[in-house]
Amino acid sequence: MSDLSTQLLRQKLYIDGEWCDADSGSTLDVTDPASGKVIGTIANAGAIETTRAIEAAHAAFRSFGYTTSEDRAAMMRKLHALIVERREPLAQLLTLEQGKPLAEARGEIDMSAKYILWFAEEARRTYGDIIPSPWRGRQILVTHDPVGVVAAITPWNFPSSMLARKIGPALAAGCTLVIKPATQTPYSGLAWAQLCEDAGFPNGSVNILTGSASAIGGVLTSHPLVRKITFTGSTDVGKLLMTQAAATVKKVSMELGGNAPFIVFDDANLDRAVEGAIASKYRNSGQTCVCTNRFYVQSGIHDQFVAKFVEATRALRVGSGFEDGVAQGPLIDSKAVETVEAMLADAVAKGGEIALGGKRHALGGTFFQPTIVTGATPDMPFASDEIFGPVAPIFRFDTEAEVIEQANATEYGLACYFYTADLGRTFRVSRRLEYGIIGVNEGLVTTEVAPFGGLKQSGVGREGSKYGIAEYLETKYLSIGGLNG
Ligand code: NAP
Repeated sequence: MSDLSTQLLRQKLYIDGEWCDADSGSTLDVTDPASGKVIGTIANAGAIETTRAIEAAHAAFRSFGYTTSEDRAAMMRKLHALIVERREPLAQLLTLEQGKPLAEARGEIDMSAKYILWFAEEARRTYGDIIPSPWRGRQILVTHDPVGVVAAITPWNFPSSMLARKIGPALAAGCTLVIKPATQTPYSGLAWAQLCEDAGFPNGSVNILTGSASAIGGVLTSHPLVRKITFTGSTDVGKLLMTQAAATVKKVSMELGGNAPFIVFDDANLDRAVEGAIASKYRNSGQTCVCTNRFYVQSGIHDQFVAKFVEATRALRVGSGFEDGVAQGPLIDSKAVETVEAMLADAVAKGGEIALGGKRHALGGTFFQPTIVTGATPDMPFASDEIFGPVAPIFRFDTEAEVIEQANATEYGLACYFYTADLGRTFRVSRRLEYGIIGVNEGLVTTEVAPFGGLKQSGVGREGSKYGIAEYLETKYLSIGGLNG
């Protein structure tokens, strides 16, 4: 790691512009998933520190909430420039704590920078309306004001960009934040505090806590000064936070789990489909919410697709994210490996065939072989549960109607993909798939300019795009009378 990465590795809490320890002095270890070695500690904060951070964010909101959009856009452009300048040390920090290949970590930092720049631009476009009045002598105005103090909780799989999607629109709108990154990958989160401080955001506008998820989350969801909870993570934790936030009727945005189907129709461009399959399945070792969970391949093209997909998957190099040419790093922890193993054992017992991989990798630790299972059936856990690992189950299908029904047979509705050369089918199938994000002949779909979010139990609200900032604004209506004297 470079000296700059070491400087960016901050191990304390960041409250009201001060780096501080937990009141108790208690700390937690953070490990490198590739080696299992401890790379540092973090403060183990709880309810007391969380209350202090909320009060600091509230005090900061009193002035930050009234800054001009021009001023906020300028600070955000500075923030963007700092991320671009520190791209390499930030990427190295990310790979160290998360394990993903350095090329992917650089891509994630680039994505963080893009979200910040996008929302620097959007800060100046939170237009209101003037509505034609039904009454003489009155004007009806609609304005959009910042929500207030925002609590943000994020997962370990994209420890930088999941925060960019929340910090960007919140600051652009004029909100202040209290943030809790994942305990397994806290340093990319804490680096945001340093970046925001260096970009000139005032004390208290961005506060970052690490420690007990239930204690911090309990206060964030119940404190009356917090006006909004924005969460990315599992559906179970999202439901819990929504329930807790209900008592004080907070606004909520939830980016939750997925179970993405990837459908290959007989008329698809085979090479393009295989390329998309590799990208959508094995990115971040299969640990993304939009990773393909279920492949559905039509009978006429099934065997050709499997042969090419196996060949392409075999070429993926597994290893430490810091090694050149590595396409797949370790899984986040041993529990993730055990989950994948249990799913595979169940699939084999139900008649699935391992076409490639299927075992822990010879490197040991939490490395796992990229795996393909054919003959998948709806009674296997892949059909209903998130795999979150490098396992590709392949289901065979015959008709369009049958595959749409199977693809929709899940409580999730985040991302899905399908490959076809037929324009009519493109629109027909897109309309019928119950998903918030649809890749047609594309396996990578995330961009700051488009709305990201799910239907059904995959979430509430959208991140990125012009829709992303609306989640951080309240709508006010002014009825101004007596205008005719
Ligand atoms: P997770 O277990 O739900 O954890 C996410 C965050 O919630 C972490 O910061 C965690 O803290 C915190 N948390 C856990 N219990 C909490 C509680 N009782 N109160 C408050 N906070 C609590 O999810 P994960 O395993 O880290 O992430 C994987 C999941 O995220 C998958 O389901 C994936 O699909 C989903 N995801 C969704 C999107 C999307 O945009 N839709 C993007 C990425 C990931 P600790 O780390 O301290 O436990």
